[in-house]
Formats: sequence, structure tokens, C-alpha cells
Amino acid sequence: MKKTQAEYYDGVSSNSTPVALELHDDGSLCISGKGVSKLCLLNDVSFSPRLGNIPRVITLPDNATCHVHDNDLIDAFLKMHKKGDASSIIHLLESRIVFVLAAVLFTLFFSWGMFAYGVPYFSRQIAFNLPIEVDRSLGQGTLEAMDKIVFTDSVMAVERRHRLASRFDEMKSSVEGAQDYKLLFRHGNEIGANAFALPSGIIVVTDELVELSEHDDEVIAVIAHEIGHLAYRHSVRMVLQNSAVAVLVSTVTGDPFSTSSIVVALPTLLANANYSREFEREADNYAYQYLTTNEMPLDSFAIILEKITESETERGIENYLSSHPVTSERIGRFK
Ligand SMILES: [Zn+2]
Repeated sequence: MKKTQAEYYDGVSSNSTPVALELHDDGSLCISGKGVSKLCLLNDVSFSPRLGNIPRVITLPDNATCHVHDNDLIDAFLKMHKKGDASSIIHLLESRIVFVLAAVLFTLFFSWGMFAYGVPYFSRQIAFNLPIEVDRSLGQGTLEAMDKIVFTDSVMAVERRHRLASRFDEMKSSVEGAQDYKLLFRHGNEIGANAFALPSGIIVVTDELVELSEHDDEVIAVIAHEIGHLAYRHSVRMVLQNSAVAVLVSTVTGDPFSTSSIVVALPTLLANANYSREFEREADNYAYQYLTTNEMPLDSFAIILEKITESETERGIENYLSSHPVTSERIGRFK
């Protein structure tokens, strides 16, 4: 037999009477106090569900109620007599901070996983299933715009240009899917020593970059890196990833129209910086592979990267990425 204190309400007046509640092993309940003496059977009474530490209400057959603070005692009694409590799972979850923390951690972990692996993975899958025309259309107009804004005609010596062009033709024939790629030279002006690949398959190398190189292999290494960007379809993947991040962020913050634009922009920026580093790594891998298979000196790429970084420092360009340890890490791989 278990005994506890309770408050008894007769169901008519609002006054409570302190009573002793006895829970007997045979399933009967005995309530006794000033002017109250009742014996009830378990099947004739009902119990309110357990919610946190709110007192349990036992409703007696005559609509009188008994309010009990000792929830555990009631639970034990109900369990002993196999009277299920539908709310017990909710209570279990609510009362276990561990479950709450686990749920929060799971959400954080899941979001992080989506940003770090899910988005890049699915973008990659989608990109490789899209026709190449999608890449082409992304690059349309870019060169025309850049020719108007920043580039002027290349002033490179014709002889060097021809030499590089024929090396590029060799490259194209050895690389699958590269047959349509074009190599163009421009004078970079403000953008200095640089090279980039337009999704339309055009690789632009500036005079300034070629001037920095002592050996054609250095320029070829850079071009191999740019071909890597094209082969891995980085432009399409970047567009897909940015859209996916925007959707994810607005889902998590519940803010589809980004009124709190800073909150939305920050994870997007962080994700982008991370994605572009990942793309650089992939393109570097491609260049590494190309140099190795063609038995070209691996440090060709390291040398030109170092020179580009140096020239940017000299020109006083505040380039966050070039001063970043990532660049020295990249250079290190090719040494
Ligand atoms: Zn790159």
C-alpha cells in the first residue's frame, strides 16, 4: 500500500479538503479526511494525463475530484495495474532534456550536412544531367561585356601566341569533351594577371599572366586548371548551389522574402566561399592530373600561382583569397 497527501473537491463547492490517499495493491483507492471517507475501485475512476509537474486529477464516480502532486506514485500505481496512459510518451519526451537537446543537435547537424554535402552533391548530380547547352547559355554575353568594360586587344608577341595556341590544340585533342573549347588572349588592364573559363567553353588568358610566366608549361598548367572548371561544370553547379542555399536558408528562417537580409546573406556567403574553395580544389586536381599524365613538371603550376600572388601584392590589390593560407596550401601541393 502507498500513501500520499491530496486535495479533495466534492464537485459541488469550490472548497478543498486535505485528505490522505491510499493506493492499495489490489487496485482500490481509499480517500480519508475531515468528513470524507471513500473507497473506490480503479475501474470506476479516471486519471488526468501526466503533463510535466501539473498535479494529477483523479475523478471519482460521483464527480468529486482528488488532486495529487505525487505524479510518480500515480504512474507507478497505474503501471502496476496496467492502466496505460496515452500521454506518457509526451511526458517522457518533455521531461527528458536529453531528447530536446538531441532534437536541436539533429536539426543543426542536418542543416550543416545539407549545406556541406547535400547541396553540393545534388547540384553535381543535376548539373551532370543537364545538357551542355545550359552551360553555354550561362556564358553568353559575358565576354562581350568584359570586352567593353575591362579588356583591350592582346598585344602579345605573335610567335608566343602561336606557340601557346598549338599547345592548346594538343591539349584539346587529349581531353574528352574539350573539342569545342576556345582559347582567347586579352590585355587584362585592371584585372592584371588572370585567367578564367566561361561556361560557354571559352578560356581567357591575359597578356599579363603570360608575361609573368617564364615557361609555356606554366601557362598550360593554368589552362589545365581552367579546363577543370569547365569539365566539372562549376558554373552551373554554382548557380544551382546558390539557389538551393537561398531556398534552404529561407526554409530554416521561415523568411522567403528575406526581410532580414543580413541573416539570410551571411550563411549564403559562407557557403559560397566554401563552395568556391571546393571548386578550386577540384580544378587543381584536374591540373595535377593533367600535368602528371603528360609528364610535365608539377611545379609549373606552383611557380605561376606564386608569381600571380606576388604581382597582386606589388600592385597593392587587396585580395583576400590570395593572402589566405589556402593559396599557399594549393601551391604546396604542386611542389
Ligand atoms: Zn580556378
